[in-house]
Amino acid sequence: MDPRIEKIRQLLNELDVETANAPKGDAGFSALELPDIIGEIVDDLQPILTAYDAAFYWFLFRHSIAKDGNPQIRVSRSSLRRAVVKSSYTNAAENNISIGKVQDTLHALEEIGAIQKLGEPNRQGTLYRVLIPDEIEACRKFRAERIAEETALFPINNKGQHERRMQVFERDGYKCRHCEKQLTRFTATTDYVKSPQEGGDESAENLLTTCADCNSRSRENAS
Ligand SMILES: [Zn+2]
Repeated sequence: MDPRIEKIRQLLNELDVETANAPKGDAGFSALELPDIIGEIVDDLQPILTAYDAAFYWFLFRHSIAKDGNPQIRVSRSSLRRAVVKSSYTNAAENNISIGKVQDTLHALEEIGAIQKLGEPNRQGTLYRVLIPDEIEACRKFRAERIAEETALFPINNKGQHERRMQVFERDGYKCRHCEKQLTRFTATTDYVKSPQEGGDESAENLLTTCADCNSRSRENAS
């Protein structure tokens, strides 16, 4: 083949990867958030995954969000056969997992909503976006059940401000109550139904989940 064509092909591939990796309204995650996100994964995602799903999720997480804050990652199925985890079905020296198992596991993670396929495969693999528990409906459901059990034991009024805010986010499903935008515990803020000036208190009933935009807008209107 003409080496110039090969060169052009290579450049096109590089461009493809660059465009795919450019954030599309994805703010990315900061290193300060990592300990909280890891805590959430252990508390609210791992319990609803199989051992293979969990190993794959941690691998993808480690090479995306935990590497540089970018939730997007391109992976090839063949490299995942040996890079992630040993097969538990064979004692052979060469105990890579099968390509079928890789496929099934990626598919299972997609079904749960832990990863999202962003495009069709190319020579470097397939582009995925790794989601964190706040963005995964199944995790929010699992957490709500867990917290409901805890709340029965420890009534909400005894909780501190941080827990009360979390309770409000849980109740509202991490969605802005004004514009319906899906938020995470890192982007969600709380706003008053009735402001303190009007006699509103800090109870969960008087708090709403809002995005930062709607929150500052309502503050401007109030002043
Ligand atoms: Zn909003």
